[in-house]
Amino acid sequence: MNMMVLRSGDEIIVIDAGLMFPEAELLGVDIVIPDTTYLKQHRHMVRAIVLTHGHEDHIGSIPYIIGDLDVPIYGTSFTLALVRKRLEEHGLLDDADLREVVPGQHIELGPFKIEFLHVTHSTIDCVALAIRTPVGVIIHTGDYKIDQTPVDGAPFDLHAFARYGREGVLALFSDSTNVERPGFTPSERAVVTRMEELFRAAPKKIVVSCFASSIHRIQQIIDIALQCGKKVGFVGRSMVDNVEIAHGLKRLRIPDGSVVRPQDLRTYDPQKLVVLASGTQAEPMSSLSRIAVDNHRLISIEENDTVILSARIIPGNEKAIFRMIDHLFRRQVLVYYESGRSAPIHVSGHASQEEMKLVLNLIRPKYFIPLHGEYRHLFRHAALAQQVGAVSGEIFLLESGQPVEFTADGAYRREPVTAGRVLVDSGSLEEIEEVVIRERRHLAEDGVVVPILAIDKHTGRLESQPEIVTRGFLPSDDGQELMNKAREVILKTIEQSTAEEKTDWGVIKEKIRVDLKRFLNKQTAKRPLILPVILEI
Ligand SMILES: [Zn+2]
Ligand SMILES: [Zn+2]
Repeated sequence: MNMMVLRSGDEIIVIDAGLMFPEAELLGVDIVIPDTTYLKQHRHMVRAIVLTHGHEDHIGSIPYIIGDLDVPIYGTSFTLALVRKRLEEHGLLDDADLREVVPGQHIELGPFKIEFLHVTHSTIDCVALAIRTPVGVIIHTGDYKIDQTPVDGAPFDLHAFARYGREGVLALFSDSTNVERPGFTPSERAVVTRMEELFRAAPKKIVVSCFASSIHRIQQIIDIALQCGKKVGFVGRSMVDNVEIAHGLKRLRIPDGSVVRPQDLRTYDPQKLVVLASGTQAEPMSSLSRIAVDNHRLISIEENDTVILSARIIPGNEKAIFRMIDHLFRRQVLVYYESGRSAPIHVSGHASQEEMKLVLNLIRPKYFIPLHGEYRHLFRHAALAQQVGAVSGEIFLLESGQPVEFTADGAYRREPVTAGRVLVDSGSLEEIEEVVIRERRHLAEDGVVVPILAIDKHTGRLESQPEIVTRGFLPSDDGQELMNKAREVILKTIEQSTAEEKTDWGVIKEKIRVDLKRFLNKQTAKRPLILPVILEI
């Protein structure tokens, strides 16, 4: 979730505040945000949140934590435009203090003097941070690759990296995502060849799906479409929003007359149409998912249309994405996605090994801390640094919540602080406790058992045999005998209760639940959710 805290004396700055989309086993959880207990405990010390770039995994939790912190947020213009949008959606914009910075700019936050250094990545306006502290300079790369031919012409600021390297850097914190890839990550421009080929070959309309934040990609798709004599349309909320934001900031060149209005997409000459759609990961309600089953409000998909998936297939989403691709093939659509054989229709935004080595060699830090990735990525990035031999002091492999203290004479691991994840159901904007997830897992795995009792409200006597309804627990014929025994368990529970207990529905329900749970668990080794219902007669 990419949140790093830098503290000097009694002053704190926070670098990035991202969110994560949950794994499938977190049932009903929409998003996961970092546990900010440490920041809440030290609220009076927190000076600011400083952002490296506008990807969800770096800005997404701001609406959920800014209420507790109430500090200024620093970022570049595109990054802040995306933050503004999120805050607006949560009705928090009026209270927010957003401060725009540009690459090359210096700001001072208490003991920290920060310079923003431009880096290249899959989105625009990304920066690394060079932070002067009382004990030395710290470099935080943010997410980066070294794109030597960036689409927007804004190069990775290698000169600044070299300058800090010459001056001497205390610690380097660097992106580890693609450490398993040898060589260099191709430039964003690498997708042009194949994309152009596909655009020229397409017999009918073209739908391209990419991440809505991939402004470079969107620009190139627009450019190629126009070169091929086609016009572009945009569908999907995030796609439309981001295009609007980037265009408003003059970061996307869209010539007048090159856009087909949403309501005209259906009737526009398919041979002259390229539609940019969001939903690369086959998210259930996304544009591309709907298009794939021909259930989109604005466009329909037909035989010989072309669909290009210009994005990575994120692990965990394969099933959904390939199901969507199958739907498209069934409709005789020409589908193209990353298969590793031909020229790329997607390139990564993260550095490969050679770029990581270059950064290590330019910075030559005393201490090195790999960031961003699973533990194996951090581990391999540490090994790579070892191999390069550019780190004069120690390399720290840190888990979330593990602080390192830098002093005038060394760097030391300190006692871990509270860190971890908070689960959010975005429908209710409430935190979900782990216990709720556990209950949902019981429901999903072992089903539900509902004993129904009709009790006389005056005497507390059962009016009839208890009914038991089950769902997802046992097939009803197999379960018949078990349910007969379960009924006896319920009868015994009631028999053994006092008159007082019998008229207190809360108590009697809980007793039935506990006894039934013990019985069913013993008989079936399952733990269904048990929900007693009592009808007063
Ligand atoms: Zn990231
Ligand atoms: Zn990123």
